[in-house]
Amino acid sequence: TEELLRKSDKLSVAGQLAAGLAHEIRNPLTSLRGFLQLLQSDLKGKQHYFEIMLSELDRINFIVSEFLVIAKPEALHYKQGRLGDILQTVVALLESQAVLNNTSLTLEFVTDVPEIVCSEMHLKQLFINIVKNAIEAISSDGQIHMTVSVEADGYVRIRTKDNGCGIPEDRLKQLGEPFYTTKEKGTGLGLMMCFKIVEAHKGTMQIRSAIGEGTTIDIRLPIDPPDVRTTISNLALA
Ligand code: ADP
Ligand code: MG
Repeated sequence: TEELLRKSDKLSVAGQLAAGLAHEIRNPLTSLRGFLQLLQSDLKGKQHYFEIMLSELDRINFIVSEFLVIAKPEALHYKQGRLGDILQTVVALLESQAVLNNTSLTLEFVTDVPEIVCSEMHLKQLFINIVKNAIEAISSDGQIHMTVSVEADGYVRIRTKDNGCGIPEDRLKQLGEPFYTTKEKGTGLGLMMCFKIVEAHKGTMQIRSAIGEGTTIDIRLPIDPPDVRTTISNLALA
């Protein structure tokens, strides 16, 4: 066991991911197995088991597909992209979800926003994740406000401020770790992906938060990065 322990100390991020994934898959599988056994002994009046089984299967499917998205090395195609348009698209996509949650979602351009060298698809994915988390942090009467401004040092700063539940200080450093989630239906893979996308663009992401007050996430992206990464693979970055 000593040897095993020493080996597990050295588990790479890839190993941790695999272990986490196995754990996430095992729970719904155990449940499915149990219900199947019950069905085997008596089929009558057990229709609702099928609903449970289907939703557990959907859950596995969802987790595995989210996992695959981040585990597969994915090519980034950089070009001059209209950051302003990307943000407007994301806000339009999530506005109805915000409204259903009694939350206003607003976007403000403090300065003119230049085109930036980026992978538009990935930036869209990045901001969808950020705004979704903000919506999910709000129970009602929320406000999510995004401000975009060009900074003197050649970066664009996109600030997303919400008045949601906030994050305890001792949890802040765990954000971006795979499978760290406080949500019943969460996967804890969203922020990890966000960090990877920002990193590939040679940008930075800073999260500040206060319990009961809300969370502010600053993403800074270089307008013209000298050397951007062309693939994202979380496993390879271990
Ligand atoms: P998921 O959304 O599936 O839980 P994420 O990686 O997107 O996974 O987020 C991880 C955790 O970080 C969330 O479960 C939540 O606890 C916390 N979090 C992220 N964004 C916010 C936010 N804007 N306000 C409060 N908590 C947040
Ligand atoms: Mg999320």
